[in-house]
Formats: sequence, C-alpha cells, structure tokens
Amino acid sequence: DVRVRFCPSPTGLPHVGMIRTALYNWAYARHTGGKMIFRVEDTDAARDSEQSYRQLVDALTWLNIDWDEGVETGGPHEPYRQSQRGPIYAEVLDKLIDSGAVYESYSTAEEIDARNQAAGRAKQLGYDNHDRSLTDEQIAAFRADGREPAWRLRVPETDVTYVDLIRGEVTFPAGSFPDFVVVRAGGQPLYTFTNPVDDALMGITHVIRGEDLMPSTARQLALYSALIDAGVTPFVPRFGHMPLVLGETGNKKLSKRDPQADLFLQREKGFIHEGLLNYLALLGWSIGPDRDIFSLDEFTAAFDIVDVNPNPARFDQKKAESINGDHIRMLAPDDFAARIVPYLAAAGLVNEPPTVEHLAVIEASAPLVQERVQVLGEVPGMLGFLFLSDGDDLDYADDALRSLPANAGEVLVASVGALELVPESEFTAAAVQEALSGALIEGLGLKPRIAYGPPRVALTGRRISPPLFESMELLGKAESIRRLGTLVS
Ligand code: GLU
Repeated sequence: DVRVRFCPSPTGLPHVGMIRTALYNWAYARHTGGKMIFRVEDTDAARDSEQSYRQLVDALTWLNIDWDEGVETGGPHEPYRQSQRGPIYAEVLDKLIDSGAVYESYSTAEEIDARNQAAGRAKQLGYDNHDRSLTDEQIAAFRADGREPAWRLRVPETDVTYVDLIRGEVTFPAGSFPDFVVVRAGGQPLYTFTNPVDDALMGITHVIRGEDLMPSTARQLALYSALIDAGVTPFVPRFGHMPLVLGETGNKKLSKRDPQADLFLQREKGFIHEGLLNYLALLGWSIGPDRDIFSLDEFTAAFDIVDVNPNPARFDQKKAESINGDHIRMLAPDDFAARIVPYLAAAGLVNEPPTVEHLAVIEASAPLVQERVQVLGEVPGMLGFLFLSDGDDLDYADDALRSLPANAGEVLVASVGALELVPESEFTAAAVQEALSGALIEGLGLKPRIAYGPPRVALTGRRISPPLFESMELLGKAESIRRLGTLVS
C-alpha cells in the first residue's frame, strides 16, 4: 500500500512551494487509497521554531489537507517529531556500526584541507575517505587524546542509478560524493541520516519532493542500501522529484521571501482554499487540455505522480486570482456570506460574530459581490458603504469625486425627487430603477453611464460598486435619499 509523507522543517512561514509538496503527496495518497504521513523534521534547534510548527499545522488545516498519521493525530510510528526521536536514531546507528556500514572518523575540516592540498587534490572534492582505513591503534590514540568521532557512511564505489517517477532514469556516477557524516561528533544525527531512516522505519513507499532535493537522493540511496543490509527495512522507496516553481519573472526560483510565496499573505488577500489548491495543483500538472478549473475530488481522482511535468512551472498571481474567482462563484451563497465575515471584521466594518442587523446586511449584499470578486479581500472595499454607523459620513474616494460630471448636482436633485415618489414599502431594486430611469434617462435625456455615476458615488463613495439599484434597496429609502442629498450639499 502506498505510504507517502510530508516532512517539512519548521522554519519561517509556510510557503507555496512547501504546500504544493504537501498537496501532491496528499493527492497521491487519496488517489491510491494509501496513507499520508505528516512528520516534522525539527532537528535543527537553532533554526526550527514552535511558532513555525503551529503555522504549518494551521496552514494544512485551513487548506483541508489532512493526514492519516503524524503530529497532532498520532499513529503507529510515534513520535512524529524528529526532535523526539533521538533514541531511535541511536539504535539505528548501532545497527549500522555492527554491520560495518559506518565508521568513526576523526578528521577535522582543517586536516582534510591540509591533506587535499598536499596531495594536489581539489579542495571542493572535500573529504578524502581517509579515515576508512584507520587502524585500531590510531583509533585508540585519538580516543586517548579525548577526541570524539563523527560517524561516516562507507559509500559504495559504483554508479548509483534509480528510476525517478517524474524524470525517468537518473544516474549518479561513482565517486560523485565522499563518505558523508551521518552522526556528528557529540551524537547529533544529520538530515541525510534522519530523513531516510524515518522513511524506512515508517514504511514510506514513495518519496515525492522538490527537485532541489535531488542531490541528497544519491546519498540517501547509498544509506538505504546500508539500512537494508542491516535489516532496518526490507525495501527502497520510489523517488519522484517535482519541478521547480519559478517566480513571476525571469528564471529565478520563487523564493521563500517573495510575497506571492507567503501562504498567509495569500489568505489575507482572500484566497479561498479551493481556489488556491486548484492553482497550486497546476504548478507541474494538468487535468487535461484547455481545462483549468476542478474540484479537490476531481483532482484526487485524476492525479497520478507519473503525470507530473518535470519542467519548471511559473507562479502567476493573476491566473491564481482568476481561478480563485471561479471557485468563489461556485460557493453556495450562505457559504460565501460566512467566508466574507472575517474580511469585513478585519476591515473594522463588523464584529466577529456580527450583530443580527449586520448579519442580515451581509446575507443580503453577499450575492451582489460574489459575482464580482476574485479574492475575498476585495469585499470590504465594495460593501463598506453598507456598514456606516448611524449618522457617519461616507468616505468618498478621490477618483470617484473627480469623476463627477458638471451637472452632477442636477442629476442628484432629480434622483431625490424621483425616489421621494416611490412608497417606502415598495422600495425595491426594480422600483428604484424605474423611478431613476424615468427621471434621468427620459426626463433629463442622459446616457445611463452619465446618469448613474453621481448617484453611485453618492451612495457608495466609489466609481465601481455593487449594482446600484440593489444597493439602494439594501440601504432603504431614507438612507438612500439622505446620501444623495449629502453629496449635493
Ligand atoms: N525536511 C526536509 C525539507 O524540508 C524534507 C525533505 C524531503 O522531503 O525529503 O527540506
């Protein structure tokens, strides 16, 4: 059975590249009926933080990416935080010592450099496998000196070949890297050790991760052979390396520091999880020609790791927002209304939870904007005019005031006159439209674009707003007339 894992290091904020990794692993687990494991690789105490850990959990929870085993939920391979697995790594190290796969190494960086220089060997080649053949006497002398060894894996002197699920056959030629440290002097195990050891112990069948991790795959395959020999695991997982995600321009990788990469910033902007996940799914995969929009269920039904495109994908904020807009349109109206509340609250327009009166306004006005926005962050600007506290004046946008035609006063006065004649109990969008078009289009002979500009600015303070007549119905007769009058004076 398929067992995949998402195993981030908790440093910094959750970013888009990381979440695509989680998404593809998750989709593959759901597609195959396998298991998704969420492990946290927090062995670097200097860089890892509890806050980053919480944010990761928060991000996955927001996105509805769930996991079958791991932190928070538990499972048969606890603990799922590497910082709590020290004794497990020590035990595996002992097995590799017993099998002879690792050896103790005393060379310091300076000693390695000096030897390379003396031998005319390039410094970049690094460690020269010198300590492979230390004699028992030499080892005893180092110990007597009080020196503590690091443990290095004896790397086989043959080419290493594997078939990448996304890239096909990949070969690392013999000698591309030296015997590497798996556990530091003092006992600290390194990423090249803990990552495959946990994959082995947790029975991971498919390692799906970013292309930037390909170089460590060579080392990890060498370590896997040693783990099999030592009886730690019976098999090597398959590996698939997903394409890089490029930034919006140029050929540079989308950096963690790019604002588009910041998942929480995107949430603040008003991505809904359905829209963001749909877009992230497209960074390296496609559901079919000429089709961009799909649900999560459609995604997991169709997704196979072997269909992932090895070529770099480019992050395109505009496209992401347009896809998000399509998903906003697909929400049930009451779901949409509920999701805009935090954005209205963040803008200071309503409380969370809103008052009963505000809730009624939100539910009545939500359909007017659900058709128009690409991200939820646009909503407060569009609906703000509906949440004025009693007697407060509207904030008019500068460009809206500048857009008023010379005859704006006349238009507004005529509008007031027409609306006065609509009975309060019949103040509907249709009635408002009839009254205004009678007064402005027929009466004053104006084109609609000119006629409705001034009332729109008077009501909403903006040039672009939800539909005018519906907005008036929502505000009611008295408030609509008050606002038209306010702008006249
Ligand atoms: N902790 C590693 C990282 O965040 C995991 C790499 C992997 O998926 O193997 O880069």
